[in-house]
Amino acid sequence: MKQITQGNQVFKLEIPTPFPVGDVNVYVIKGDCLTLVDAGPKTEEAWLAFQHQLKEIGYTPQDIEQIVVTHHHPDHVGMLDYFSDEVPVIGHFFNTPWLKKDQQFIVRHATFFEKLFIEFGVDKKFIPYINQLKNTLDFSCERDLKYFIREGEEINGLFGWRILETPGHAQSHIALYEESTGILIGGDLLLKHISPNPLLEPPMTKDVCERPRPQLQLNQSISRLLDLPISLVYAGHGENIDEVHKLIAYRLKQQSERAELVRSFLAVKPLTAFQACQTLFPTIYHKQLILTISETVGQLDYLVEMEQIIVDTSLDTHRYIANEC
Ligand SMILES: [Zn+2]
Repeated sequence: MKQITQGNQVFKLEIPTPFPVGDVNVYVIKGDCLTLVDAGPKTEEAWLAFQHQLKEIGYTPQDIEQIVVTHHHPDHVGMLDYFSDEVPVIGHFFNTPWLKKDQQFIVRHATFFEKLFIEFGVDKKFIPYINQLKNTLDFSCERDLKYFIREGEEINGLFGWRILETPGHAQSHIALYEESTGILIGGDLLLKHISPNPLLEPPMTKDVCERPRPQLQLNQSISRLLDLPISLVYAGHGENIDEVHKLIAYRLKQQSERAELVRSFLAVKPLTAFQACQTLFPTIYHKQLILTISETVGQLDYLVEMEQIIVDTSLDTHRYIANEC
C-alpha cells in the first residue's frame, strides 16, 4: 500500500504481475460500501501481496463488497477468481466473453486474427503467435459480470463517481470520475511512463463487420478528458498523474510524430502493414508481434483518417500508399 488520499478515501495497492509491464495498481474506495477497482493477475504472489496491503489499511478480502473492472486484461481481472461468487463484479458488457473465457469467442478471436494477418501480409510462419493469447489467459479468471455499466452511469455504493466509456487500449475500457474532487481512476487509459498500446480486437457486436480502430478510439478517449477538470489520475500502472492535460497533449503529439515516421516509410514505397511493422520495429516485431502490429496499424489507421495515405484493398493483402499531395 503506497498512498492514502484522505477525504476521497481511495487507497492504492501495488500488485506484482508476471508481465513485462510490472506491477498493476488496484484501488480500494471506501464509499457507502467497500469497492475494489481492478483485481490483479491470478497468481499466488499477487494474492498474497493484495492481502498484505489490504491488511495495512485495516481490511481483509472478505470486506470487499463489490469489484469494478476498468477493462478485461488479465493483469486487471485474474484475481477475481479468488473472491466469493457473492461479490458482484461490475464492468462494461464487452468484458463478458473475456472474463468468462467464452470458447466461441476465443475461436472467433483467432479466426479474426487469421484473416487480419492475411490482410496485413504477415508471414505465415507467424500464425501460431495468435495462440499466444491462450497463455496470457492462464492469468485471467472465469467469472461472470453481475452488472453492466455504461457511459454516464453511477454505481450503487459509489456515490459521486461517474462512468466514462474510454475504448482504445481495450474495447471494454471504462474509467471512474469523481466530479467533486476531479479524481479519475483511469485504468490503462493514461500512464505516466509509457503510452498504452492501442490493441487490435475483433468487433464486439456480431452485426458489425468492420474492426475497431483502437488508436483513433484511444485518441478520442484521452482527448475528451481535456474537457474535464481533472486534478489527479490514479493510473493502472506506475505513478499517479497530476499534470493530466499536459500529459495528454504530450501523448497526442508523440503519437502524431510516430505516425509521421510511418508516413515517411510509405513515401519511399507502398508497404503492407506487416512490412511497415518490420520497418518500425526491426528488432522486436517477431518477439511481440500482436503488440507491434497493433501499434503499427494504429498509426496506419490514423494516417488514413488524416487522409495522408490511402489503402489499396484490391488484393487480399492490402497495401498502404502515401498520398501525393
Ligand atoms: Zn491493459
